[in-house]
Amino acid sequence: MHELPIIKSIYKSVITKAEGAGAKKVKRVVIEVGILRDFIPELVQKYWDFISPGSIAEGSVIELRELDASAACGRCGKEYAITKENIGNPQCPVCGYRRGRLISGSELRLVGIEIEKQEKK
Ligand SMILES: [Zn+2]
Repeated sequence: MHELPIIKSIYKSVITKAEGAGAKKVKRVVIEVGILRDFIPELVQKYWDFISPGSIAEGSVIELRELDASAACGRCGKEYAITKENIGNPQCPVCGYRRGRLISGSELRLVGIEIEKQEKK
């Protein structure tokens, strides 16, 4: 996994967003990740716990949401999903052809953060 730089850049946007929203603490960070990325949730959380202490994101929980990948059949062009079940052996549901082109599956994006706001006086 060579994802530490990615985690760091997500971390930066989380801090920017949270501060912009007047957060006192970040509680949860939701990241969508394509299954082809092969992210390991435990590792992501470990990296996060390594870089976030001392910031408002310290102690926050990373929630990874996996996105299925999609492919287009190399013979008939049918688009179909690649999931955890068929990722090792993708096959066109229409014609049975086993080769094709990947359309998506390596996305990685920050989709939401949950914060605790500063109390207004
Ligand atoms: Zn096909």
